[in-house]
Amino acid sequence: MTAQHEAVIIGAGFGGMGAAIQLDRLGIRDYVILDREAGLGGTWHVNRYPGLAVDIASVTYSYSFEPNPNWSRLFAPGEELKRYAEHVATKYDLRRRMRFGTTVTSARWDETAQRWLVTVDGGEPLSARYLFTATGFLSQPKTPDIPGMDTFAGKIIHSADWDDSYSLDGKRAAIIGTGATAVQLIPELAAKVKELTVYQRTPIWVVPKVDTPIPRPVRRLFARFPGVQRAARLVNSAALETLSTVGVLHYRQARLAAKGAELLARAHLFAQVRDAETRRKLTPGYSFGCKRPTFSNSYFRTFNQPHVRLRTSSIELIRPHGITTADGTTTDIDLLVLATGFDLWETNFPAVEIVGRDGRDLGKWWRDTRFQAYEGVTMPRFPNLVSLNSPYSYTGLSYFWTIEAQMKHIARLFGEMRRRGATTFEVTEQANADFLARMTRRLEDSVFYRGNCATARSYYFNPHGEASLLRPVPVVTGNRDARRFPLDDYAFTGSATTTPADPRSRVGTQ
Ligand code: NAP
Repeated sequence: MTAQHEAVIIGAGFGGMGAAIQLDRLGIRDYVILDREAGLGGTWHVNRYPGLAVDIASVTYSYSFEPNPNWSRLFAPGEELKRYAEHVATKYDLRRRMRFGTTVTSARWDETAQRWLVTVDGGEPLSARYLFTATGFLSQPKTPDIPGMDTFAGKIIHSADWDDSYSLDGKRAAIIGTGATAVQLIPELAAKVKELTVYQRTPIWVVPKVDTPIPRPVRRLFARFPGVQRAARLVNSAALETLSTVGVLHYRQARLAAKGAELLARAHLFAQVRDAETRRKLTPGYSFGCKRPTFSNSYFRTFNQPHVRLRTSSIELIRPHGITTADGTTTDIDLLVLATGFDLWETNFPAVEIVGRDGRDLGKWWRDTRFQAYEGVTMPRFPNLVSLNSPYSYTGLSYFWTIEAQMKHIARLFGEMRRRGATTFEVTEQANADFLARMTRRLEDSVFYRGNCATARSYYFNPHGEASLLRPVPVVTGNRDARRFPLDDYAFTGSATTTPADPRSRVGTQ
């Protein structure tokens, strides 16, 4: 039996829920949301490590149409994000359409039926006219391939699979990784364990976090006058947008301003770390913005504590009771924490096998040609597919800006389909090629190509060496394009349609 639906959404995080809310608004109610996890919220369901918090202020890191007056701090802790996701799912009646513990293995376009056939691990396949993938960017945890890892006799915990039942008290712990996760985790670990050794391969730029509890009267004010919270969101968003536009996208024109962020991070480090050698080790050798920077008031100062060590010599071997580095030092440990991040490009683009028209395999096509997606959401020969976590989709610093721009794109696209009485859409090869050329040109000004990113090891770069993760436009431009993209960039077919052009006749990147 193949269950038939109007749409299947893969992923019950904020991206998938945004798509679902938009479908309801469009009157498309027959959809299911599939998620491999046991609960909703995506990242905020999976990540539960000590110290987890958002590092984009919560007034901005939330749906603009669903403000939450109850954030306890400017930067809410992880469990509040999870609660917010639960609230959104309930309020927008999404839960009854969600199916958990359902891992999608592949999706294939059936040209005859003009539908997607979605297969799931150990379950019946589903058929849908429209497919939305909202599988996130950071959803495939990366375990490093270090010799001897399988011989380790102590406890190993990945940050994305935290074991709350394991007591940290009195342990000799090591942590591998110094990304945004480790920056939040390290001060928390240091407060509990007996010894902490931090293995750093690449230092991270860290700037101060201006965080504070939100007093109850302010929360009441937000609840009573949502306009006040909207104004706070606007101010915070404008500041973030200036930071990313100046520091990242227009590095060529504003190199000095971008250097300001670097200076701030250096001053922060100088103010917090006493030992000059430790400061030197913690100072990145690449330009600010090449790799995702982060915010913390407690990370640097943790390295002043006598039981915390920073090791920068590369890890050679993991032994049953310790770690040996290239300089010959072996450190005995009971606990190994992997804050080693996520596999983006190898396993996440796309996260499941997707085969479109004429047998085009999305992952293979991206790898054989270039990573590309029109407006960060659609690809030629993938009819009726909206791929929310695609190259050039992430716009601005808050993920919610990306989600809401994509919701606008969906509204315009599906609105036009309805106007034409169409049932199938597909972006043209030409529109996709033009978009890719525009993004490539825009990146020329960015820190990725104008700054010094050689040593950053940044996941912003794909395996071809192109910085194709972020969309190199300001958020206002991304929103404007989502509202106004030329409708004949798509071919629409189906009953009673007026098809502007046959995508098969267009030229483009193959
Ligand atoms: P990450 O930024 O990819 O950092 C992974 C760390 O592990 C890096 O320091 C990396 O070193 C190191 N590493 C990986 N493999 C290694 C190996 N084989 N040997 C030695 N070191 C190794 O991952 P993350 O810290 O989990 O953060 C991922 C993203 O999640 C962030 O960039 C951010 O977007 C998001 N995040 C957000 C928040 C928030 O508050 N909103 C909090 C946490 C995370 P190299 O740099 O040398 O590769």
